[in-house]
Amino acid sequence: MSGLADFECIVIGAGAAGVAAGRSLARGGASFILLEARQRAGGRAFTQNSGGFPVDLGAGWLHSADRNVLLPLAGQQGFAIDRETPPWQKSADARGFETGDQRAYRAEQGRFFQRAHEAAQAGREGPASDLLDPAARWTPLIDAMSTYVNGTETDRLSVLDYAAYEDTEVNFRVVQGYGALIEKLGVELPIRFGCIARLIDHGARPLRVETNAGTLTAQAVIVTVPTNLIATGALRFRPALPARVEAAAVLPLGLADKLFLALDGAEDFPVDSRLYGATDRTATANYHIRPFGRPLIEAYFGGQFARELEAGGMAAFADVAMGQIVDALGSSYRKRLAPIACSSWARDPFALGSYSHALPGHSGARAVLARPEGEALFFAGEAVSPGFFSTVHGAWETGERAAQDALASLGA
Ligand SMILES: Cc1cc2nc3c(=O)[nH]c(=O)nc-3n(C[C@H](O)[C@H](O)[C@H](O)COP(=O)(O)OP(=O)(O)OC[C@H]3O[C@@H](n4cnc5c(N)ncnc54)[C@H](O)[C@@H]3O)c2cc1C
Repeated sequence: MSGLADFECIVIGAGAAGVAAGRSLARGGASFILLEARQRAGGRAFTQNSGGFPVDLGAGWLHSADRNVLLPLAGQQGFAIDRETPPWQKSADARGFETGDQRAYRAEQGRFFQRAHEAAQAGREGPASDLLDPAARWTPLIDAMSTYVNGTETDRLSVLDYAAYEDTEVNFRVVQGYGALIEKLGVELPIRFGCIARLIDHGARPLRVETNAGTLTAQAVIVTVPTNLIATGALRFRPALPARVEAAAVLPLGLADKLFLALDGAEDFPVDSRLYGATDRTATANYHIRPFGRPLIEAYFGGQFARELEAGGMAAFADVAMGQIVDALGSSYRKRLAPIACSSWARDPFALGSYSHALPGHSGARAVLARPEGEALFFAGEAVSPGFFSTVHGAWETGERAAQDALASLGA
């Protein structure tokens, strides 16, 4: 170690990866600080109280719950877990999607997954859209599903990366909110809120981090900001790191947005049921009715469609949702629905999107972005997870790993 520094380690960002890194650094006895641009921890895991309920505007599901490191942590923190089958693993409301058609669609989706798996095994890096017949009946809907799952249409999705995602298909939820859990896990950490890192000078130890509130120094730095912040130069490096910036650029954040509607007379629906807004197009939403049994509808929008709607704010999302629900269920629903909360992740300056996907030809970029830079600069966040990318638990694991690497470099 050379030169005096303010801290042994600085962590940039207090989302899941940053909070995990902070907790590991604390356990390792290092002196450290987290710099967080927002006034809250949790990043893309964000619970907001709306309509009398804690609603998750970002992450909501403990995906791969049987392998999810956050599940035991949630229990330890006193958070309740809902283990109901998620709506996408059940049949949807036949009023939006006739039952026989649902069967045909699911069969076609299964064939698409199989083709993706085979293409990946053959090492094919092309766009996932190559595996779909553009004229086939269910292609627009498979593309719509891709916008919810990957944040992008299949023509911008690397098959190899898509197939690398690990999913045990066990999905639970945190009753008080996934965002609330991450925030609670970070509550005892030293976090400087409203502190925006702009440049990391990593030419020599100590490293210098330039922020909107002055310059801080540390022997090691862990970067956890979303890829789009690195790709756009919102956070820069000196000396420049062109290969890493390029890796971030080919792992862009796709877009998924949520709209919550209060639903009058919710008892008319089964708990955790589902309605399709349309089945013949990609620009459509999907509706989760009575999540946790609450009198709400959680509407999901993705890809280019969500991007366009963000320009019009909650009114634009609500207009589409209420129109689609009224078309499927009848005009009385116009009075029974009221929008209460909405996300706009592409317009969020500290996210610029929802979760990362690899562009066709670039599945190897996650490994490039994950590599430490020299002895003192480390990278974490969902995008660098090899198999749990685009999730909270994936981000968490990368934060823990980066902290272990940083501690080792500090000789702790
Ligand atoms: C709508 C939506 C639904 C989702 N659903 C799920 C789900 O059901 N299950 C699941 O597991 N995952 C889901 N995700 C994905 C999940 O939220 C993310 O993968 C995960 O939260 C990312 O954590 P992270 O720490 O890598 O990044 P982030 O949470 O983005 O944390 C990075 C932090 O860095 C901060 N930051 C940015 N720039 C700077 C800067 N210059 N200086 C200082 N701080 C900065 C940010 O404010 C942020 O707090 C969803 C995401 C969205 C948007």
